[in-house]
Amino acid sequence: MENATRMFYDKRGSTLVKNLISHHFDAWYCATKEEALAKALQLIPEGSTVGWGGAMSAQQIGLIDAVDSGNFNALNRDKTTTPQERTAVMRACFNADWFITGANALSLDGQMVNIDGVGNRTGMIIYGPTNILVIAGMNKVVDSLEEAVRRTRTIAAPQNAQRFGLPNPCSVTGACGDCKNETCICNQLLITRNSKPAGRIKMIIVGQDLGF
Ligand code: SF4
Repeated sequence: MENATRMFYDKRGSTLVKNLISHHFDAWYCATKEEALAKALQLIPEGSTVGWGGAMSAQQIGLIDAVDSGNFNALNRDKTTTPQERTAVMRACFNADWFITGANALSLDGQMVNIDGVGNRTGMIIYGPTNILVIAGMNKVVDSLEEAVRRTRTIAAPQNAQRFGLPNPCSVTGACGDCKNETCICNQLLITRNSKPAGRIKMIIVGQDLGF
């Protein structure tokens, strides 16, 4: 990473963390993936029941593998063999001790935006597990809430639709076509302004680009 980008991310990340804390999130800035992984494993007690969803950034720092192979009760929907089992694991996440997720966008003033297809991830964030752990790279940070919503709808969602191979307009053109397809993944748009209870939602902001 260029030195100027390093300094930019470090300063901007520090500003973001202060603003997230003002919205009652617990938040930490870690300059590298390695620091972020160590911080996450320090937060989650061994023996905890842990689920995740939409967690590409957490995968990229090695957290999902560490939880799945570590001394945790991991709720891994990707290890199920039938759609019914997969749904059961996703529902079990509501009662987990911890749920790991990413953020589609963060506004520099300290708010989080996520978009969801079936709503399991947004549902968890709103009223699910006791602890929500968000792993997000600095590429997710934009200047305003309006830009965060725009990023979520025009940058994050189209790439996710392409990743899943869905036959939606964005998969063809790279631009959101504001579709109403049954395969649309943009059905729930969540703005999380504050963490309530205070500290329930924890965020590790990583000074690198993660996910999209
Ligand atoms: S075209 Fe549909 S699935 Fe693609 S980003 Fe727009 S609303 Fe979402």
